[in-house]
Amino acid sequence: MEKITEYFGSMVFDERIMKATLSEKVYKSLKRTIDRGAPLDISVANAVAAAMKDWAIELGATHYTHWFQPMTGVTAEKHDSFISPAPDGRVIMEFSGKELVKGEPDASSFPSGGLRATFEARGYTAWDPTSYAFVKDGTLYIPTAFCSYTGEALDKKVPLLRSMEAINKQALRILKLFGNTKVKSVKTSVGPEQEYFLVDREMWKKRKDLIMTGRTLFGAMPPKGQEMDDHYFGSIKPRVAEYMADLDRELWKLGILAKTKHNEVAPAQHELAPIYDTTNIAADHNQLTMEVMQKVALRHNLVCLLHEKPFAGVNGSGKHNNWSISTDQGENLLSPGETPAENAQFLLFLAAVIKAVDDYQDLLRLSVATAGNDHRLGANEAPPAVISIFLGDELTAVLDAIEKDKPYGGTAKEKMKLGVDVLPQFSKDTTDRNRTSPFAFTGNKFEFRMLGSSNSISCANIHLNAAVAEVLRQFADKLEKAKDFNKSLHDLIRKTIKDHKRIIFNGNGYDDAWIKEAEKRGLMNLRTTADAMPHICDKKNVEMLTSHGIFTEAEIFSRRDIMLENYVKTVNIEAVTMVDMARKEIIPAVAKFAADTASAVAVKKSISKSACKYETRLVTELSELIDEMDAATIELEAAIAEFKGIAEIIKASEFVRDTMLPAMDKLRSAADRAETMTAEDYYPFPTYDKLLFGV
Ligand code: ADP
Ligand code: MG
Repeated sequence: MEKITEYFGSMVFDERIMKATLSEKVYKSLKRTIDRGAPLDISVANAVAAAMKDWAIELGATHYTHWFQPMTGVTAEKHDSFISPAPDGRVIMEFSGKELVKGEPDASSFPSGGLRATFEARGYTAWDPTSYAFVKDGTLYIPTAFCSYTGEALDKKVPLLRSMEAINKQALRILKLFGNTKVKSVKTSVGPEQEYFLVDREMWKKRKDLIMTGRTLFGAMPPKGQEMDDHYFGSIKPRVAEYMADLDRELWKLGILAKTKHNEVAPAQHELAPIYDTTNIAADHNQLTMEVMQKVALRHNLVCLLHEKPFAGVNGSGKHNNWSISTDQGENLLSPGETPAENAQFLLFLAAVIKAVDDYQDLLRLSVATAGNDHRLGANEAPPAVISIFLGDELTAVLDAIEKDKPYGGTAKEKMKLGVDVLPQFSKDTTDRNRTSPFAFTGNKFEFRMLGSSNSISCANIHLNAAVAEVLRQFADKLEKAKDFNKSLHDLIRKTIKDHKRIIFNGNGYDDAWIKEAEKRGLMNLRTTADAMPHICDKKNVEMLTSHGIFTEAEIFSRRDIMLENYVKTVNIEAVTMVDMARKEIIPAVAKFAADTASAVAVKKSISKSACKYETRLVTELSELIDEMDAATIELEAAIAEFKGIAEIIKASEFVRDTMLPAMDKLRSAADRAETMTAEDYYPFPTYDKLLFGV
C-alpha cells in the first residue's frame, strides 16, 4: 500500500511542485500574484505554463481545461489538447502563458440572465492563481473565473473573491483600531460538511425520476424508515466502506483534506467533512468533491444522490457551512480570547455577525434557495426557513449582562466591563448540539446549516461575507471617529445587542411555537424560492452589495432571473417526468393488476360460490385510485400547458409555487396510495424499501 503522505496532493500543482519546477525568479513572482494579487507578467505566465504542461504530461495529461463555475450549479469545462502541428507532420505538446491566463469558451449557452447580448456571445475565463491547478482524468484543470467582455461576472467565483476582499478591507480597519497593525490580510475560511445518499445503480436505472430529476417523484414510505435511529453513526456496510475508502483516496490525490466520514440519519445517507480551508479553495474543493463522489460511485455500481430531498418522508441532505474569519497571523477572530482586549475584539466581531444576520436575513435565505432545498427548509427536519442564531446559554448570558449592565456569572458577580474582564471559555459541549438552528455559534466559528447538499457553497458565502463586511464598515466608520475608544466600543456592542437580540434563539427550531414566536419578533419567513429570491433586488440589498463592489446592479437583477429560471425549469422537468411516469408506467401497472384481479373473480366464481369480497373491494378501490390518478395527471398536464404561456419570470415562479407544485402533490398522493395496494410483481420500478435498504 502506498502511503497517504506520499500520494496526498500528487495530482496538484502546489507549492512544492512550483518550487521544484520553476526558477527562483518565476516562483517569487508567481507567489506575489498568489499572495497579494500582483499582476502577472506574460513571461512569468509562459514559464509557469511550460512547467505546468510538463508536469501534467508526466501525469498522463493530454488536454487542459479552464474549469469554471457558471450559474448552472455544476462546473463547466471545455477540453483542449496540448497538441500543435510540427513541420514534419508530427505534433508537439504546447501550452502558452496566454492559454493559461485566459480562455474564451463560447459563453452563449450558459445562463447570463440577459447580461450578455447574443451577438456578444463570448465571455472569457481568467486563471485564478490562488486556487491550485490539478490533473484529473487525463486533463490539466485550471481553476478560472468567468466574465463577460464588459467585465460582468457570469459565475460564482468572481463575486466570491470580491466578497472576501470586502471583508478583508473592513476587518483590517477594525483590527487597526485595536492596535493590531501586524496583520496584513484577513480571510474567511470554510469547512463544508457534505451529506449524500448512495443507491444501487441497477435500481437507479429503473427510475426515470431519479435519472431525470435526481429525486424520487413517487414512492410510499417503507415499513421501516429512520425512526429506529439505528443508522446515524452506525457501522458502515462493507460496500459503502469500500466506496468511502476509494473516495478518500481520490480526494486526497487531488489535495482535498477529506477528514471525517460517517452514516447519517436516514438509511443510505452518509456524510463527508473536509478540514476547513480558505473560502475560495473550500468552494473549489467542494465542487470537485461532489464531482468525484458521483464518479467514484459508478465504479462501485452505485449512484451518489446529491439532491436535497431524494426521498419524501426521509431526512434530506444539507451542507453545513462552518465559517470563520482569521488573520494571516493565525488569529481566529471568532474565537474568544485570553485577555480582556482580545475579548472585546471578539465581542465586536460577534456583534457584527449578529447584526449582519439580522439585517440581511433575506439575503442569507435566498443564497440557499433552490427548488430542491425548498423541500428541506421548514419541513420539520432541516433548519426552518426562518433565520435565527444559536449562541448557547453561556454566551447569551454574557451578552445579556452587557446589554443590561448587570453582573455576569454565578461566581464572579462582577459587572461585565469590556476591555477589563476575561470571558469564560466556551466549551464545545455547551454549543449547539440539537442541530435545529440555521446559524449556530460552535465555539470558534459559525455553522450556517441551511445550505442544500447540491448548492455551491459560493452563494451562501458571498452573501454572508458581504453582510458581515457591511456591518464591519458601519462599525469602523463609527469607531474611527470615537474620542474615547473603549467607551464607544462598549456603547456600540451594547446597542447592537439591544437592537438585534431578536435574531438570537437557543430553543428548538423545529417547534411550531418558534415559528409563531419568530413572527412576533418580526423575523422573515421566506418559505419558498419564489418568496425569497425577489428580495435580492430590494433597495437595501442592492445598495449594500453594489457599495462593496460585490455585484453591479445589472448582475444582481440577472442573478435573480437566473435563480428563478433554475427554480421554474427544475419543477417543470419534474412535472413532465411525473406525467410521463404516471401515464406510461404507474397507471398501466395498477390497471393491469386491477384487471387481472377482476378476471380472476370470473374464474373463481365459476368454480366456487365465493362472493370474492377481497377481490371486489380491491378492484373497486384500485379503480377509484386509477380515476384519481388520471384526473390528477390531466390537471398537471393543464398546469404544464399554462406554465408554457407565462413569460414573466416572477409570475412563472409564483405559478410554480401556487399551482404546479400542489398539482404534483395531488398526483403523488394518489399514486403512493395505489403503490401500497398493488402487488410487488406488477409495480414498474423499485420502491423505497429496495432503494433505501438495497445497498
Ligand atoms: P461537527 O460537530 O459539526 O461535525 P466538527 O468539529 O467536526 O463539527 O467540524 C466541522 C467542520 O468545521 C470541519 O470541516 C472543520 O474543519 C470545520 N472547522 C473547524 N474549525 C474551523 C474554522 N476555524 N473555520 C472554518 N471551519 C472550521
Ligand atoms: Mg456540523
